[in-house]
Amino acid sequence: MDKVSPEERSRVMARVKSRDTGPEKRVRSMMHRLGLRFRLHRRDLPGTPDLTLPGRQTVVFVHGCFWHRHAGCPQASTPAVNVDYWTRKFARNQARDAEAVERLTALGWRVVIVWECELRRPQQLEERLRRIFLTPDGASDRRPMV
Ligand SMILES: [Zn+2]
Repeated sequence: MDKVSPEERSRVMARVKSRDTGPEKRVRSMMHRLGLRFRLHRRDLPGTPDLTLPGRQTVVFVHGCFWHRHAGCPQASTPAVNVDYWTRKFARNQARDAEAVERLTALGWRVVIVWECELRRPQQLEERLRRIFLTPDGASDRRPMV
């Protein structure tokens, strides 16, 4: 049984999504290896994207599957207690994410989401990034890639 309050649990789990988390660092070094250059955490853009590639008019978010509700992902489970609390919290997160994608897209940015669980198969993720950024078809496709 879960004895910590939702607030406490939230506080503890929020550390998972601090700005220099392991997943984000791993995505950064992967992109470096691919020869991609980017800026970090531009606060002047909606949602403060984790990575921004100005030359490619593209931003990348590295999303934790739990907080950002990766559809169909086992990591995106809902805790069995305080269901209402979590449901509201997740709804807010999702609304915020959707708004950021919408606003960025309206400003001409392409939005790429990398899910934390993708790092379990780094070769596949690297291949996905290569396809998105380094192939003519990928580079010209401006749809959000979530
Ligand atoms: Zn996931």
